[in-house]
Amino acid sequence: MSKAARDFDVIVVGAGGAGLAAATVAASEGAHVLVVDADKKLGGSTSLSTGVFYAAGTSVQKKLGIEDNPADQYRYYMNVNQHKLEPSVVHRLCHDSGPTLEWLLSLGVEFKTQDLYCSGVDGIPRGHMAAGHGASIAEALEGSFTGKKVDVVLNTRVQQLLMEGDTVAGIVTEDGPFRAGAVVISTGGFGNNPRMLAELYPDAARQGDAAWYIGSKHSRGDGLNMGRAVGADIAGYNRGLLLLTTGFVQELESHLPGWLVYINREGRRFVDEYTEYSVLAEVLREQLAGECFGIFDEATRATAKAPNCPNWTPDRLDHFIKTKQIKSAPTLAELADLVGIRAETLATTIENYNADCDAGHDSWFFKEKKWLQAIRKPPFYAAPIRPQVVCWTGTGLRIDREARVLNRADRHIKGLFGAGEATGGMFGECYAAGGASIGNAVTFGRVAGRNAALFARR
Ligand SMILES: Cc1cc2nc3c(=O)[nH]c(=O)nc-3n(C[C@H](O)[C@H](O)[C@H](O)COP(=O)(O)OP(=O)(O)OC[C@H]3O[C@@H](n4cnc5c(N)ncnc54)[C@H](O)[C@@H]3O)c2cc1C
Repeated sequence: MSKAARDFDVIVVGAGGAGLAAATVAASEGAHVLVVDADKKLGGSTSLSTGVFYAAGTSVQKKLGIEDNPADQYRYYMNVNQHKLEPSVVHRLCHDSGPTLEWLLSLGVEFKTQDLYCSGVDGIPRGHMAAGHGASIAEALEGSFTGKKVDVVLNTRVQQLLMEGDTVAGIVTEDGPFRAGAVVISTGGFGNNPRMLAELYPDAARQGDAAWYIGSKHSRGDGLNMGRAVGADIAGYNRGLLLLTTGFVQELESHLPGWLVYINREGRRFVDEYTEYSVLAEVLREQLAGECFGIFDEATRATAKAPNCPNWTPDRLDHFIKTKQIKSAPTLAELADLVGIRAETLATTIENYNADCDAGHDSWFFKEKKWLQAIRKPPFYAAPIRPQVVCWTGTGLRIDREARVLNRADRHIKGLFGAGEATGGMFGECYAAGGASIGNAVTFGRVAGRNAALFARR
């Protein structure tokens, strides 16, 4: 296609963290960029998020004297997921995440040292939380459009790519075709599309109507489907992040209270209940029926409090007990019978747990001392817990380390680039850490933007 026949050099479809980064970088490379978003404003799930960005070897870490590097981050990613990832893509992600965080700092996003924490199970503080959360990341990226050739069209859902032979040559919207030298797909995930959850994320679909999605309503997998329609391959299966919930209210609680004692159907504890949310759903999946009960007693109910858990107060718990969402019984044996837990094993488990509470040391799962509250005072309570909150999805278009979308023969689909939740290959069964998704979106957004601009210039 000749340059004269184009409406734009690069079209970016979907503008959360990935698309905004792609657009501004493509424009910095001299491209005239069109950004199209289905929403009435830019930002997508990125702007709804907590804004944690996972990276190694950053200036924020250095200020705290933390020695870290991308090679260790890469090893961690691969090992925690038994190497079932796309190594070259993950390698690029790990090596570019630090520089991408520095770039966000240069655009005005604040990552304070006091908000750096261990967001994975690696024991190294790599979770950088943006002051102002995800919205501040989106705003800074959007702000960086100033002075660049970026046109923005909102309220426009793109559903089709325009092909010229075997090359992607633009998009089709209800206002007609728009032609470009390259297209970046950054439409986010498919958490809000039950049919695609059933096809590609069965662990989420298994929860049926009880599951709910907490991100942008436009996360319908459009980019994935547009890509598939032109022959793109899919990477990953059954990938994403589910959070545990009692389902009493459809609100986001990244952690349930640490004083709950999780008991499986066999009557046993199976995890430190305050383990990182990134891995809890995966641990629960291994339990009988993929569910458990949070057990506590009247002494805990009467004094209940937990950070960031507004529904775990004495009054609210009383309400859920009255509505029978929380089951109660005068003895542990009766509670076990009521909810279908093996009673004899539960008796032993609670006996051991209470002894550990008295000793101030969890000798079975090593939960922090501050959460240890014995279970002795009747009545006793059981709250059902399942992985029903769909936070994001991790199956998507297969890309290479240059963010080029690949077909099933592992060839680049010419003119097509992908980034963020719309792509796959960088997430395994275990979510590496809080911040890995935004880290991936912005990092590969930059890669996609630069390479789309270079491709369009050829
Ligand atoms: C409440 C919450 C908290 C989270 N916290 C964190 C966190 O702290 N750290 C972390 O790493 N991850 C977090 N996540 C996940 C993370 O926010 C997302 O995975 C990430 O932001 C996705 O970025 P993205 O750019 O790929 O997609 P999005 O930010 O979702 O952007 C996609 C954009 O594409 C648009 N779009 C979709 N379809 C079309 C179409 N057909 N045509 C045009 N436009 C379209 C959408 O409107 C949207 O603007 C959180 C998610 C939620 C919901």
